[in-house]
Amino acid sequence: MIPVSSIFVNAQIITPLGVIPRGWLLVRDGRIAAYGRGDAPTADSVIDAAGATLLPGFVDVHVHGGANFEAMDATPEALHTMSGFYARHGVTSFLATTWTDSRERIQAALETIAALTGTEMRGAALVGAHVEGPFLNPARCGAQSTTYIRRAGRDEGLDFLNTGCIRLMALAPEYPENHWLICECAQRGVAVSAAHTAATYDDMCAAVELGLTQTTHTFNAMTGLHHREPGTLGAALTLTQLRCELIADNIHVHPAAMKLVWLAKGADGVILITDAVRGAGMPDGEYPIDDRVITIKDGAARLPDGTLAGSTLTFDVAVRNFMAATGEPLANIWQATSLNAARNVGISNRKGSIEIGKDADLILVDERINVLLTMVEGRVVYRENA
Ligand SMILES: [Zn+2]
Repeated sequence: MIPVSSIFVNAQIITPLGVIPRGWLLVRDGRIAAYGRGDAPTADSVIDAAGATLLPGFVDVHVHGGANFEAMDATPEALHTMSGFYARHGVTSFLATTWTDSRERIQAALETIAALTGTEMRGAALVGAHVEGPFLNPARCGAQSTTYIRRAGRDEGLDFLNTGCIRLMALAPEYPENHWLICECAQRGVAVSAAHTAATYDDMCAAVELGLTQTTHTFNAMTGLHHREPGTLGAALTLTQLRCELIADNIHVHPAAMKLVWLAKGADGVILITDAVRGAGMPDGEYPIDDRVITIKDGAARLPDGTLAGSTLTFDVAVRNFMAATGEPLANIWQATSLNAARNVGISNRKGSIEIGKDADLILVDERINVLLTMVEGRVVYRENA
């Protein structure tokens, strides 16, 4: 039974209006009902934070798998297991992210995601799908299979969108054949991100005019910065319409590059992601990806030719790495862990920050960003040592 109301006490609370050094937060009917300092109101159950930090749960909009499952498995078991695994690392919402693959396999994955979106999950809430590929540039494929990379066909693109669960579409914006899909997504309120792309700065400016608002794993699988041709990266860093995804695992991106994004985009412009795959949370070894094999060794996921193939990153570690890279405290970077992603994919009316009326998607962390407790829509789904 979920208590009708619960209250956190003795917590350092991170809110958009500032940090409350020692306060309380009341949860009622799955939502944030009130918070403050001083005397706490009564509730059915009390959670003593003992000085730990209470912040909005992490929102991971780019995550393929973990705990030996992947969104492309297209089974409810995969999504439930992933949801439980992410919650242990502080994630309260995620977009199940598909890979480049055949139309049939992507469609099957999307239909499974659509069936479970908004239902009660084992841990983190499944808020929809992120389609990464197949409409990419083979010259910047990374680990995405060139066998299946293609331009956006109208029938296929509309079939994907009509599953109703897509909140983020990642594509290569430099192809005129993909432009209709940017417009269609923008019209439907689906966010579009530039991914696996050789877009020039001018290509990016044109795509922003059509509705592009995000860059996928910034730095990775995109045109780098040159002072006479700023490229995809130059556009990502300078166009204020774009928020930048970042894989803060110290493998995909050097800490100095993380700091560069932070300095260029500020607290409002960075979206931390994990891009985690099946082998996240699993021992070193070999794991299947479409028709191929990924080797996980020392935290890196690679194809046989050495290409990085997603990550084994968990969100708590990403936050820790990003804080170390920027030298900023959690109170300054928390938007990059939740609110910015929620805004870009259109769920910030319910998720992404501690505000009265929003879903009680909350986590307690210690000063080293170890996750002590995860609450999703008022339900405690993870407690350390429980
Ligand atoms: Zn990815």
